[in-house]
Amino acid sequence: MEEVLTNPKAGFYMNRDVFGAQGDFITSPEVSQMFGEMIGVWTVCLWEQMGRPERVNLVELGPGRGTLMADLLRGTSKFKNFTESLHIHLVECSPALQKLQHQNLKCTDESSSEKKAVSSLAGTPVHWHATLQEVPSGVPTLIIAHEFYDALPVHQFQKSTRGWCEKMVDVGEDSKFRFVLSPQPTPAALYLMKRCTWATPEEREKMEHVEISPKSMDLTQEMAKRIGSDGGGALIIDYGMNAIISDSLQAIRKHKFVNILDDPGSADLSAYVDFPSIKHSAEEASENVSVHGPMTQSQFLGSLGINFRVDALLQNCNDEQAESLRAGYWQLVGDGEAPFWEGPNEQTPIGMGTRYLAMSIVNKNQGIPAPFQ
Ligand code: SAH
Repeated sequence: MEEVLTNPKAGFYMNRDVFGAQGDFITSPEVSQMFGEMIGVWTVCLWEQMGRPERVNLVELGPGRGTLMADLLRGTSKFKNFTESLHIHLVECSPALQKLQHQNLKCTDESSSEKKAVSSLAGTPVHWHATLQEVPSGVPTLIIAHEFYDALPVHQFQKSTRGWCEKMVDVGEDSKFRFVLSPQPTPAALYLMKRCTWATPEEREKMEHVEISPKSMDLTQEMAKRIGSDGGGALIIDYGMNAIISDSLQAIRKHKFVNILDDPGSADLSAYVDFPSIKHSAEEASENVSVHGPMTQSQFLGSLGINFRVDALLQNCNDEQAESLRAGYWQLVGDGEAPFWEGPNEQTPIGMGTRYLAMSIVNKNQGIPAPFQ
Protein backbone atom coordinates (compact mmCIF):
# COMPACT_ATOMS: atom_id res chain seq x y z
CA MET A 1 0.00 0.00 0.00
CA GLU A 2 2.84 2.33 0.89
CA GLU A 3 4.66 1.58 -2.39
CA VAL A 4 1.51 2.06 -4.44
CA LEU A 5 0.84 5.48 -2.88
CA THR A 6 4.29 6.94 -2.24
CA ASN A 7 6.85 5.27 -4.55
CA PRO A 8 8.90 8.23 -5.88
CA LYS A 9 8.39 7.22 -9.55
CA ALA A 10 5.01 5.50 -9.74
CA GLY A 11 3.25 6.37 -6.45
CA PHE A 12 -0.34 7.58 -6.81
CA TYR A 13 0.26 10.85 -4.93
CA MET A 14 3.76 11.59 -6.12
CA ASN A 15 3.54 13.30 -9.48
CA ARG A 16 0.09 14.84 -9.88
CA ASP A 17 -2.91 16.59 -8.41
CA VAL A 18 -5.47 13.89 -7.65
CA PHE A 19 -8.15 15.99 -5.95
CA GLY A 20 -11.39 17.66 -7.03
CA ALA A 21 -14.09 16.99 -9.60
CA GLN A 22 -11.51 16.33 -12.36
CA GLY A 23 -9.30 14.18 -10.12
CA ASP A 24 -9.87 10.85 -8.38
CA PHE A 25 -11.69 11.99 -5.25
CA ILE A 26 -12.88 15.09 -3.44
CA THR A 27 -12.14 15.98 0.18
CA SER A 28 -13.90 18.31 2.67
CA PRO A 29 -11.47 21.26 2.31
CA GLU A 30 -12.08 21.11 -1.46
CA VAL A 31 -15.86 21.06 -0.91
CA SER A 32 -16.04 24.38 0.93
CA GLN A 33 -13.84 27.08 2.47
CA MET A 34 -15.94 26.68 5.63
CA PHE A 35 -14.15 23.43 6.50
CA GLY A 36 -10.68 25.03 6.85
CA GLU A 37 -12.26 28.02 8.60
CA MET A 38 -13.87 25.80 11.24
CA ILE A 39 -10.57 23.98 11.84
CA GLY A 40 -9.12 27.49 12.28
CA VAL A 41 -11.69 28.16 15.01
CA TRP A 42 -10.64 24.90 16.69
CA THR A 43 -6.93 25.80 16.61
CA VAL A 44 -7.45 29.34 17.94
CA CYS A 45 -9.62 27.96 20.81
CA LEU A 46 -6.92 25.44 21.72
CA TRP A 47 -4.20 28.09 21.50
CA GLU A 48 -6.24 30.25 23.92
CA GLN A 49 -6.64 27.28 26.23
CA MET A 50 -2.87 26.71 26.09
CA GLY A 51 -2.37 30.23 27.52
CA ARG A 52 -1.64 31.98 24.20
CA PRO A 53 1.98 30.79 23.75
CA GLU A 54 4.21 33.17 21.78
CA ARG A 55 5.48 30.44 19.52
CA VAL A 56 3.62 27.39 18.21
CA ASN A 57 4.40 24.79 15.57
CA LEU A 58 1.28 24.25 13.47
CA VAL A 59 1.82 20.94 11.70
CA GLU A 60 -0.38 19.54 8.94
CA LEU A 61 0.09 15.92 7.93
CA GLY A 62 -0.68 15.30 4.23
CA PRO A 63 -1.96 18.77 3.26
CA GLY A 64 -3.01 17.79 -0.31
CA ARG A 65 -3.43 21.02 -2.26
CA GLY A 66 -2.92 23.15 0.86
CA THR A 67 -6.53 24.33 0.75
CA LEU A 68 -7.34 23.61 4.41
CA MET A 69 -4.27 25.53 5.62
CA ALA A 70 -4.97 28.46 3.26
CA ASP A 71 -8.58 28.75 4.51
CA LEU A 72 -7.40 28.39 8.12
CA LEU A 73 -4.87 31.24 7.68
CA ARG A 74 -7.33 33.53 5.89
CA GLY A 75 -10.01 32.78 8.49
CA THR A 76 -7.77 33.47 11.49
CA SER A 77 -5.83 36.42 10.02
CA LYS A 78 -7.68 38.88 12.29
CA PHE A 79 -6.29 37.14 15.39
CA LYS A 80 -2.86 38.72 15.02
CA ASN A 81 -1.37 37.33 18.24
CA PHE A 82 -2.32 33.86 17.06
CA THR A 83 -0.99 34.10 13.49
CA GLU A 84 2.21 35.80 14.67
CA SER A 85 2.91 32.84 16.97
CA LEU A 86 2.71 30.31 14.13
CA HIS A 87 5.45 28.36 12.40
CA ILE A 88 3.79 26.13 9.84
CA HIS A 89 5.25 22.70 9.13
CA LEU A 90 3.78 20.73 6.25
CA VAL A 91 4.54 17.00 6.22
CA GLU A 92 4.18 15.95 2.60
CA CYS A 93 5.83 13.14 0.63
CA SER A 94 4.82 14.33 -2.84
CA PRO A 95 7.01 16.91 -4.61
CA ALA A 96 4.12 17.77 -6.97
CA LEU A 97 1.80 18.50 -4.03
CA GLN A 98 4.50 20.44 -2.17
CA LYS A 99 4.62 22.77 -5.18
CA LEU A 100 0.84 23.21 -5.18
CA GLN A 101 0.86 23.93 -1.44
CA HIS A 102 3.57 26.56 -2.01
CA GLN A 103 1.36 28.23 -4.66
CA ASN A 104 -1.90 28.04 -2.72
CA LEU A 105 -0.36 29.45 0.45
CA LYS A 106 1.00 32.31 -1.70
CA CYS A 107 4.54 31.63 -0.51
CA THR A 108 7.70 33.51 -1.34
CA ASP A 109 10.95 31.60 -0.91
CA GLU A 110 13.60 32.56 1.55
CA SER A 111 16.65 32.68 -0.72
CA SER A 112 18.64 29.91 0.98
CA SER A 113 16.19 27.02 0.81
CA GLU A 114 13.24 25.71 -1.19
CA LYS A 115 12.01 23.91 1.91
CA LYS A 116 11.40 27.16 3.78
CA ALA A 117 9.19 30.07 2.70
CA VAL A 118 6.86 32.76 4.01
CA SER A 119 3.12 32.65 3.33
CA SER A 120 1.76 36.06 2.44
CA LEU A 121 -1.71 34.98 3.65
CA ALA A 122 -0.70 35.74 7.25
CA GLY A 123 3.03 36.46 7.08
CA THR A 124 3.83 33.08 8.62
CA PRO A 125 6.97 31.00 7.96
CA VAL A 126 6.28 27.68 6.22
CA HIS A 127 8.57 24.62 6.19
CA TRP A 128 8.24 21.30 4.36
CA HIS A 129 9.22 17.87 5.67
CA ALA A 130 8.87 14.27 4.53
CA THR A 131 8.01 12.93 8.01
CA LEU A 132 6.79 14.18 11.40
CA GLN A 133 10.13 13.18 12.96
CA GLU A 134 11.81 15.93 10.91
CA VAL A 135 9.63 18.66 12.48
CA PRO A 136 11.65 20.33 15.27
CA SER A 137 10.36 19.59 18.78
CA GLY A 138 10.62 21.55 22.03
CA VAL A 139 7.85 24.01 21.04
CA PRO A 140 4.07 23.65 21.75
CA THR A 141 2.60 21.86 18.76
CA LEU A 142 -0.79 21.75 17.06
CA ILE A 143 -1.18 18.87 14.60
CA ILE A 144 -3.90 18.52 11.97
CA ALA A 145 -4.40 15.23 10.17
CA HIS A 146 -7.28 15.37 7.72
CA GLU A 147 -7.63 12.31 5.47
CA PHE A 148 -4.04 11.36 6.28
CA TYR A 149 -4.48 8.24 8.39
CA ASP A 150 -6.61 6.52 5.73
CA ALA A 151 -3.61 6.60 3.37
CA LEU A 152 -1.30 4.81 5.84
CA PRO A 153 -0.68 1.13 5.04
CA VAL A 154 -2.85 -1.55 6.63
CA HIS A 155 -2.18 -5.25 7.23
CA GLN A 156 -5.05 -7.72 6.94
CA PHE A 157 -5.25 -10.93 8.96
CA GLN A 158 -7.52 -13.92 8.61
CA LYS A 159 -8.19 -16.70 11.12
CA SER A 160 -7.41 -20.14 9.67
CA THR A 161 -6.75 -23.67 10.95
CA ARG A 162 -3.11 -22.54 11.32
CA GLY A 163 -4.13 -19.60 13.53
CA TRP A 164 -3.96 -15.97 12.39
CA CYS A 165 -2.42 -15.62 8.89
CA GLU A 166 -1.58 -12.36 7.16
CA LYS A 167 -3.03 -11.71 3.70
CA MET A 168 -0.09 -11.07 1.35
CA VAL A 169 0.24 -10.07 -2.32
CA ASP A 170 1.84 -12.66 -4.59
CA VAL A 171 2.43 -13.01 -8.35
CA GLY A 172 0.44 -15.91 -9.86
CA GLU A 173 1.46 -18.20 -12.76
CA ASP A 174 -0.39 -15.89 -15.13
CA SER A 175 2.00 -13.09 -13.98
CA LYS A 176 -0.92 -11.29 -12.34
CA PHE A 177 -1.07 -10.14 -8.73
CA ARG A 178 -3.14 -12.26 -6.34
CA PHE A 179 -3.80 -12.51 -2.61
CA VAL A 180 -2.37 -15.45 -0.61
CA LEU A 181 -2.19 -16.27 3.12
CA SER A 182 1.20 -16.20 4.86
CA PRO A 183 2.55 -19.67 5.68
CA GLN A 184 4.27 -18.39 8.85
CA PRO A 185 3.68 -15.65 11.41
CA THR A 186 4.68 -12.20 10.06
CA PRO A 187 6.20 -9.23 11.99
CA ALA A 188 2.89 -7.31 11.92
CA ALA A 189 1.37 -10.09 14.05
CA LEU A 190 2.89 -8.34 17.09
CA TYR A 191 0.67 -5.33 16.36
CA LEU A 192 -2.31 -7.63 15.80
CA MET A 193 -1.85 -9.06 19.30
CA LYS A 194 -1.72 -5.57 20.76
CA ARG A 195 -4.84 -4.50 18.84
CA CYS A 196 -6.71 -7.59 20.04
CA THR A 197 -6.02 -6.71 23.69
CA TRP A 198 -7.89 -3.43 23.06
CA ALA A 199 -10.91 -5.16 21.50
CA THR A 200 -14.18 -5.43 23.41
CA PRO A 201 -15.32 -8.96 24.49
CA GLU A 202 -18.10 -8.83 21.83
CA GLU A 203 -15.58 -7.89 19.14
CA ARG A 204 -13.22 -10.69 20.23
CA GLU A 205 -15.95 -13.30 19.93
CA LYS A 206 -16.73 -12.41 16.32
CA MET A 207 -13.19 -11.84 15.02
CA GLU A 208 -12.45 -13.74 11.78
CA HIS A 209 -10.82 -10.98 9.73
CA VAL A 210 -8.91 -8.05 11.25
CA GLU A 211 -7.31 -5.06 9.57
CA ILE A 212 -4.67 -3.13 11.50
CA SER A 213 -2.34 -0.24 10.70
CA PRO A 214 0.99 -0.48 12.56
CA LYS A 215 2.14 2.78 10.90
CA SER A 216 -0.91 4.59 12.31
CA MET A 217 -0.22 3.16 15.76
CA ASP A 218 3.45 4.26 15.64
CA LEU A 219 2.59 7.72 14.27
CA THR A 220 0.00 8.25 17.02
CA GLN A 221 2.56 7.30 19.66
CA GLU A 222 4.99 9.84 18.25
CA MET A 223 2.30 12.56 18.22
CA ALA A 224 1.20 11.76 21.77
CA LYS A 225 4.78 11.83 23.11
CA ARG A 226 5.38 15.20 21.47
CA ILE A 227 2.12 16.69 22.77
CA GLY A 228 2.74 15.17 26.21
CA SER A 229 6.16 16.78 26.52
CA ASP A 230 5.85 20.01 24.47
CA GLY A 231 2.15 20.88 25.02
CA GLY A 232 -0.50 21.36 22.35
CA GLY A 233 -2.87 18.95 20.66
CA ALA A 234 -3.82 17.02 17.56
CA LEU A 235 -7.01 16.85 15.55
CA ILE A 236 -7.67 13.77 13.45
CA ILE A 237 -10.57 13.75 11.00
CA ASP A 238 -11.10 10.83 8.69
CA TYR A 239 -13.63 8.28 7.55
CA GLY A 240 -13.55 5.32 9.84
CA MET A 241 -15.19 3.52 12.72
CA ASN A 242 -15.24 3.59 16.49
CA ALA A 243 -14.66 -0.19 16.39
CA ILE A 244 -12.19 -2.82 15.22
CA ILE A 245 -12.08 -2.97 11.41
CA SER A 246 -12.38 -6.28 9.59
CA ASP A 247 -11.79 -5.54 5.90
CA SER A 248 -12.08 -2.04 4.44
CA LEU A 249 -9.18 -1.57 2.02
CA GLN A 250 -10.48 -0.06 -1.23
CA ALA A 251 -9.23 1.45 -4.47
CA ILE A 252 -10.82 4.52 -6.10
CA ARG A 253 -10.02 5.79 -9.58
CA LYS A 254 -11.85 8.79 -11.07
CA HIS A 255 -14.56 8.65 -8.34
CA LYS A 256 -15.26 4.90 -8.93
CA PHE A 257 -14.34 1.78 -6.93
CA VAL A 258 -11.91 -0.48 -8.83
CA ASN A 259 -10.05 -3.74 -8.12
CA ILE A 260 -7.26 -3.17 -5.55
CA LEU A 261 -4.69 -5.15 -7.55
CA ASP A 262 -5.48 -3.53 -10.90
CA ASP A 263 -2.73 -1.25 -12.29
CA PRO A 264 -1.15 -0.24 -8.94
CA GLY A 265 -0.30 3.47 -8.65
CA SER A 266 -3.16 4.55 -10.92
CA ALA A 267 -5.86 4.48 -8.21
CA ASP A 268 -6.06 5.77 -4.65
CA LEU A 269 -5.86 3.10 -1.97
CA SER A 270 -7.44 3.87 1.36
CA ALA A 271 -8.82 2.10 4.42
CA TYR A 272 -11.20 2.98 7.25
CA VAL A 273 -9.47 4.54 10.22
CA ASP A 274 -9.57 2.48 13.41
CA PHE A 275 -10.29 5.21 16.01
CA PRO A 276 -10.07 3.02 19.15
CA SER A 277 -6.57 2.01 18.09
CA ILE A 278 -5.56 5.70 17.86
CA LYS A 279 -7.02 6.35 21.32
CA HIS A 280 -5.23 3.41 22.96
CA SER A 281 -1.91 4.08 21.16
CA ALA A 282 -1.93 7.70 22.38
CA GLU A 283 -2.84 6.78 25.95
CA GLU A 284 -0.16 4.09 26.02
CA ALA A 285 2.54 6.47 24.71
CA SER A 286 2.13 9.32 27.19
CA GLU A 287 0.41 9.72 30.52
CA ASN A 288 0.33 13.48 29.90
CA VAL A 289 -2.29 13.32 27.15
CA SER A 290 -6.04 12.82 27.10
CA VAL A 291 -8.00 11.62 24.08
CA HIS A 292 -11.47 12.91 23.18
CA GLY A 293 -14.07 11.63 20.74
CA PRO A 294 -14.60 10.37 18.20
CA MET A 295 -17.65 12.43 17.32
CA THR A 296 -19.16 12.81 13.87
CA GLN A 297 -17.92 15.55 11.53
CA SER A 298 -21.45 16.92 11.62
CA GLN A 299 -21.40 17.29 15.45
CA PHE A 300 -17.88 18.69 15.33
CA LEU A 301 -18.57 21.39 12.71
CA GLY A 302 -22.02 22.13 14.18
CA SER A 303 -20.62 22.75 17.66
CA LEU A 304 -17.93 25.04 16.26
CA GLY A 305 -20.60 27.21 14.65
CA ILE A 306 -20.68 26.30 10.95
CA ASN A 307 -24.38 27.32 10.86
CA PHE A 308 -23.48 30.89 11.81
CA ARG A 309 -20.67 30.93 9.25
CA VAL A 310 -22.88 29.76 6.38
CA ASP A 311 -25.53 32.36 7.31
CA ALA A 312 -22.90 35.14 7.39
CA LEU A 313 -21.51 34.10 3.99
CA LEU A 314 -25.02 33.89 2.49
CA GLN A 315 -25.62 37.56 3.37
CA ASN A 316 -22.97 38.68 0.90
CA CYS A 317 -23.23 36.55 -2.23
CA ASN A 318 -25.06 36.16 -5.53
CA ASP A 319 -27.51 33.31 -6.35
CA GLU A 320 -24.88 31.07 -7.90
CA GLN A 321 -22.54 31.45 -4.94
CA ALA A 322 -25.45 30.85 -2.54
CA GLU A 323 -26.29 27.57 -4.28
CA SER A 324 -22.71 26.38 -4.07
CA LEU A 325 -22.46 27.42 -0.38
CA ARG A 326 -25.62 25.49 0.49
CA ALA A 327 -24.46 22.43 -1.45
CA GLY A 328 -21.06 22.59 0.28
CA TYR A 329 -22.68 22.97 3.69
CA TRP A 330 -24.87 19.89 3.20
CA GLN A 331 -22.01 17.87 1.85
CA LEU A 332 -19.95 18.65 4.97
CA VAL A 333 -22.63 18.12 7.62
CA GLY A 334 -25.32 16.01 5.92
CA ASP A 335 -25.68 12.24 6.23
CA GLY A 336 -26.77 11.68 2.64
CA GLU A 337 -30.40 12.59 3.33
CA ALA A 338 -30.14 16.43 3.25
CA PRO A 339 -33.76 16.96 4.43
CA PHE A 340 -33.59 20.73 4.00
CA TRP A 341 -31.95 20.64 0.58
CA GLU A 342 -33.84 23.02 -1.72
CA GLY A 343 -32.11 22.23 -5.02
CA PRO A 344 -32.96 19.58 -7.64
CA ASN A 345 -33.15 15.98 -6.32
CA GLU A 346 -30.47 14.62 -8.63
CA GLN A 347 -28.04 17.20 -7.26
CA THR A 348 -28.57 16.31 -3.58
CA PRO A 349 -25.09 16.51 -2.06
CA ILE A 350 -23.52 13.29 -0.75
CA GLY A 351 -23.15 13.74 2.99
CA MET A 352 -19.78 13.43 4.70
CA GLY A 353 -21.29 14.46 8.05
CA THR A 354 -21.68 11.04 9.68
CA ARG A 355 -19.17 8.92 7.75
CA TYR A 356 -16.31 11.14 8.88
CA LEU A 357 -15.26 11.17 12.53
CA ALA A 358 -13.20 13.64 14.57
CA MET A 359 -10.90 12.81 17.47
CA SER A 360 -8.49 14.93 19.46
CA ILE A 361 -5.38 14.21 21.53
CA VAL A 362 -4.37 17.05 23.88
CA ASN A 363 -1.96 17.75 26.70
CA LYS A 364 -3.87 16.95 29.92
CA ASN A 365 -2.86 20.19 31.64
CA GLN A 366 -4.83 22.21 29.09
CA GLY A 367 -8.25 20.70 29.89
CA ILE A 368 -10.79 19.35 27.44
CA PRO A 369 -10.78 21.02 24.00
CA ALA A 370 -13.81 22.51 22.25
CA PRO A 371 -16.15 20.99 21.13
CA PHE A 372 -15.35 17.70 22.86
CA GLN A 373 -16.46 18.91 26.33
N1 SAH B 1 -5.52 16.57 3.69
C1 SAH B 1 -5.75 16.75 2.28
C2 SAH B 1 -5.21 15.61 1.41
C3 SAH B 1 -5.61 14.20 1.77
S1 SAH B 1 -4.89 12.99 0.70
C4 SAH B 1 -7.24 16.96 2.03
O1 SAH B 1 -8.03 16.67 2.91
O2 SAH B 1 -7.60 17.43 0.94
C5 SAH B 1 -3.47 12.43 1.57
C6 SAH B 1 -2.31 13.40 1.62
O3 SAH B 1 -1.26 12.79 2.38
C7 SAH B 1 -1.66 13.79 0.29
O4 SAH B 1 -1.19 15.10 0.38
C8 SAH B 1 -0.51 12.78 0.19
O5 SAH B 1 0.49 13.17 -0.71
C9 SAH B 1 -0.04 12.75 1.61
N2 SAH B 1 0.61 11.49 2.03
C10 SAH B 1 0.14 10.24 1.87
N3 SAH B 1 0.97 9.33 2.45
C11 SAH B 1 1.98 10.07 3.00
C12 SAH B 1 3.16 9.72 3.74
N4 SAH B 1 3.44 8.45 4.04
N5 SAH B 1 3.99 10.71 4.13
C13 SAH B 1 3.70 12.02 3.87
N6 SAH B 1 2.60 12.41 3.16
C14 SAH B 1 1.76 11.44 2.73
